[in-house]
Amino acid sequence: MAKPVILTVDDDPNVLSAVARDLRRRYAEQYRIVRADSGAAALEATRELRQRGEAVALFLADQRMPGMSGVEFLAQAMPIFPQARRALLTAYADTEAAIQAINSAAVHYYLLKPWDPPEEQLYPVLDDLLEEWQASHSPIFEGIRLLGHRWSPEAHALKDFLARNHVPYLYFDLETDPQARELLEQYGQPEPKLPLVRLVDGRWLVAPTVAELADQAGLLRQAAQTHYDLAIVGGGPAGLAAAVYGASEGLRTVLIEREAPGGQAGTSSRIENYLGFPSGLSGGDLARRAVAQARRFGVEILSPVEVVGMRIDGPYRFLQLNDGSEISTFAVVVAVGLSYRKLDAPGIEQLTGAGVYYGASLTEALSCQAQPVFIVGAGNSAGQAAIYLAEYAERVIMLVRGDSLGAKMSQYLVDRIEASLNIEVRLNSTVSAVHGSAHVEAVTVRAPDGGEERCPAAALFIFTGAMPCTGWLTEIVHLDRQGFIPTGPQVFEEGRRPKGWDVDREPFLLESSVPGIFVVGDARAGSVKRVASAVGEGSIAVQFVHQHLARLR
Ligand SMILES: Cc1cc2nc3c(=O)[nH]c(=O)nc-3n(C[C@H](O)[C@H](O)[C@H](O)COP(=O)(O)OP(=O)(O)OC[C@H]3O[C@@H](n4cnc5c(N)ncnc54)[C@H](O)[C@@H]3O)c2cc1C
Repeated sequence: MAKPVILTVDDDPNVLSAVARDLRRRYAEQYRIVRADSGAAALEATRELRQRGEAVALFLADQRMPGMSGVEFLAQAMPIFPQARRALLTAYADTEAAIQAINSAAVHYYLLKPWDPPEEQLYPVLDDLLEEWQASHSPIFEGIRLLGHRWSPEAHALKDFLARNHVPYLYFDLETDPQARELLEQYGQPEPKLPLVRLVDGRWLVAPTVAELADQAGLLRQAAQTHYDLAIVGGGPAGLAAAVYGASEGLRTVLIEREAPGGQAGTSSRIENYLGFPSGLSGGDLARRAVAQARRFGVEILSPVEVVGMRIDGPYRFLQLNDGSEISTFAVVVAVGLSYRKLDAPGIEQLTGAGVYYGASLTEALSCQAQPVFIVGAGNSAGQAAIYLAEYAERVIMLVRGDSLGAKMSQYLVDRIEASLNIEVRLNSTVSAVHGSAHVEAVTVRAPDGGEERCPAAALFIFTGAMPCTGWLTEIVHLDRQGFIPTGPQVFEEGRRPKGWDVDREPFLLESSVPGIFVVGDARAGSVKRVASAVGEGSIAVQFVHQHLARLR
């Protein structure tokens, strides 16, 4: 296999050779460095590479070039190698153009000239971009093959699980994909139960559960130790941040996640307001980076494993897992976040997973191609999903219970929805029924005047009010009426410490009504429901964990 290419373009021969020299110094072992002295020459080289079947990992283009600017080149190169990372080299005076380019040419990063020393100004950024490219690029597929019916809820559950856990897989749809038949023939038995999975080593799994597939896909589901300094429940942004800080500061740390690391944020198609990522990043990407960081510091991540209860014995907190085992720890960080409230209308329950999805099921976007889809909800998550799905679906219809879109949604999303040609917003409207035998075929919409209309639909994505996942803690810590967990000063009852508080100190800021049980992120009473605040709380909580542990020893 030819090495993937880094293509750099600059009309100034001195700058071009300086860039090429620095690129070679760091990347020559893994990548072939190709140079071009104009936008037109770079475009020609790009087309040739495509024809020869080579892969481009990164374009690095100077902005100021006669004839074709860097942004113009990157915009034209994008459809030829859509997965390649695009970086712009700019002078300080061109910063404005570079920021515009983030939107117009989907540029991933801009670098300022000069980039000396490259160890600080160039390589960290390019390392990051190349790592992202590697994560999305699979030259020869060596992952799991999954075969199923397009609208099967079981196949959807397996696909969703593999995608969210970043396990490489290929999906073969029995109805539409000719290769699916070939795979079925390789299995050799007539009419097996579906979905059918072929593992990397050639073994087959017939209609496996998510847990069976997780075991075979090499995901860790059993704790390696019986006791930890810190156990974190939930692997969303808050839990992952606590894990990174805990382990990096020397605590023996385990993180237990019931679905896939990333949490709600992991289902987001594009997070645009997270500090340091001017062109936004997908939730999947954020989760992948955070998991890699946590593992590097030695965090043990158990997934998919659910914590179903907790018991307390002196300074020990025992987490009870859904396989019946227990993990002992001195401190617990509860980072269980929220999950969507179920919507109640005829047809919804039967068709969940077969066209009805709670939250943004990004894996299903392709199957909605050129068909109408409905979204229920008007929060930021619904807005993001509408924009994402509009790239695939023929039409996206948003059903909003209230009388304005902007009441709960950020203005930048409202603006994009209003500017989109294939997103329709219906205010004061709800779903009163969902129809279909094997999968969603239509939804009935109730209009503000009470009238009902049956509309064809390929899918319904539900984003209605979310609830904290704290049911398993009812008997352990104080919960408020909505199930959120009060912490710090909120746990005082009429100015007194909570009942059963057995240590001689006040509760720490993020501590629940039980010493050593901390709560962070969306499940905490009064929390700001944002990625950055969840990450912040996860990091801060570890300081209190240290103080709690110090008093135990
Ligand atoms: C589609 C979407 C888009 C969003 N976009 C943005 C955005 O652009 N910007 C922004 O700032 N915010 C955004 N948000 C909000 C943001 O994602 C949340 O505020 C953030 O994820 C909260 O983090 P958390 O770690 O507290 O909880 P969560 O992300 O909810 O993670 C909690 C985790 O705990 C796990 N869990 C729950 N119970 C258990 C249990 N008993 N045992 C084991 N594991 C358990 C869950 O499976 C989950 O993975 C978005 C949310 C959604 C749904």
